[in-house]
Amino acid sequence: METTTIGASGIEVSRIALGTWAIGGWMWGGTDEAQAIATIRRAVDSGVTLIDTAPVYGFGRSEEIVGKALAGPLRSRVRIATKGGLAWRGGQVFRDSRATRIRAEVEDSLRRLGTDHIDLYQVHWPDSQTPLEETATALEMLRTQGKLGAIGVSNFSPAQMSVFRAAAELDAVQPPYNLFEREMEDGVLPYASRTGLSVLCYGALCRGLLSGRMDIHTTFRGDDLRKIDPKFNGARFRHYLAAVDELSRLARERFDKSVLALAVRWVLDQGPTIALWGARSPEQLDAIGDVAGWHIDTATLRDIDAILRRCIGEPIAPSFMAPPERAIAQPHER
Ligand code: NAP
Repeated sequence: METTTIGASGIEVSRIALGTWAIGGWMWGGTDEAQAIATIRRAVDSGVTLIDTAPVYGFGRSEEIVGKALAGPLRSRVRIATKGGLAWRGGQVFRDSRATRIRAEVEDSLRRLGTDHIDLYQVHWPDSQTPLEETATALEMLRTQGKLGAIGVSNFSPAQMSVFRAAAELDAVQPPYNLFEREMEDGVLPYASRTGLSVLCYGALCRGLLSGRMDIHTTFRGDDLRKIDPKFNGARFRHYLAAVDELSRLARERFDKSVLALAVRWVLDQGPTIALWGARSPEQLDAIGDVAGWHIDTATLRDIDAILRRCIGEPIAPSFMAPPERAIAQPHER
């Protein structure tokens, strides 16, 4: 397992991290706790030392499951990354990074995770109604108190990060990034490389599209977000599946690997990146070993881009996932 250090924090982690949004159930058609715990433990057994979660993933459920899975001696083998700055009311999620909210959320996360410190704490989405300095100052204070190891942000632009880091030491950023969602290459990735941030890439498998197990007949159940994800609907779904087919062939012929291994390797070969791999059953992590020990050469990178250009006329960003801003007059809600 390849490892890296999160920013300048000195905290060492595996470059493949387990993502636990699906494990929280919300927007993924439900969860199975026993299976989720087994998945987290399989990740650790496979060499993963970074687990990413968030309060909003199942409204506390994902964090509680991570806490249960890591209870006891396992906790010391793993670094936990969680987030704050999203609130919810009646199932409606909105942004709230006010200092009071963040301080309360850190305490709630510590309790759910059953730990006395969070190794990496990230602001989930920028909240345009709260000064970035207010959130950053609150987090820096919590870091000096020893409750947080490192501070990160997610879905922030370089300009927002520059303002944020005037008030807090920033070590990481978490944008969407995978073969099909490349928007961060124009700003966040070069900024992070230049300024020493680790980049935790979310959706490394493009929500399962790059797993290679989907076809045009694949359907999703319950509240699964892929029902409303434009990539999984209509003609676009066919275009993305055609790209997956071609990428599968390329991965097999040139590297004797699966498209899933190619997708994760590709993320890791792009810079100071960590690939967040969302999984909800232990078997989904069987391919972890296939990602290590090889790289994608420059000619193949060019061929991959040609496949994407050929198959996907109009690439579409994952912006459908962005939660709304808090209404100005809304009182502090939890
Ligand atoms: P992802 O990692 O691209 O895809 C996860 C899904 O891929 C799984 O739920 C599973 O789908 C499928 N999958 C995984 N391994 C598989 C395998 N071996 N075979 C077949 N299917 C497989 O998407 P993600 O979970 O959205 O992103 C990863 C993590 O990033 C999240 O869990 C979360 O920690 C983080 N994230 C952060 C943000 C943010 O705003 N900061 C946003 C999104 C995600 P099935 O359900 O079909 O089994």
